[in-house]
Amino acid sequence: MSSCLLGEAVRYDGGRFAMSALLLRWQSEGRLLSFCPEVAGGLPVPRRPAEVPGGQGAAVLAGLIPVHTVDGEDVTGAFLRGAARACQLAAEQGVRFALLKARSPSCGNRQTYDGRFAGQLVDGEGVTAAALRQAGVRVFNEAEAEQLAALLDQNL
Ligand code: SF4
Repeated sequence: MSSCLLGEAVRYDGGRFAMSALLLRWQSEGRLLSFCPEVAGGLPVPRRPAEVPGGQGAAVLAGLIPVHTVDGEDVTGAFLRGAARACQLAAEQGVRFALLKARSPSCGNRQTYDGRFAGQLVDGEGVTAAALRQAGVRVFNEAEAEQLAALLDQNL
């Protein structure tokens, strides 16, 4: 789980999200593992916003493109460390599903902002979402939580 979806103050702006009823239930059942790749990668809270050019999280993983903040600071290393730690944790814990925050440069699984810091979305994925997908973890976002719940109910 993206830690921010569990109400933890790890977002770049230090804000918190309220937890949905479904997530509260899963949490009470002890089924959730909280993880924030950007904080795990060494970035502070709050931090300057970063974007992945063209939603190309997989290209960042492959060393083809960097991740920069809105100020032009290269934060590629922190993003890669967070993604690697997420995959390590997933392997250690036998994680098969990840529910990650939509549109994040780390966690977005279907879209991210396009790297120009102009509020434009592009189809693609964040760095950790790409890494987990490549590691065989099925990645969902918060709008897809019911879909994930249906899969879990079927024990798939
Ligand atoms: Fe951390 Fe991902 Fe949430 Fe961003 S979206 S605060 S990287 S858990």
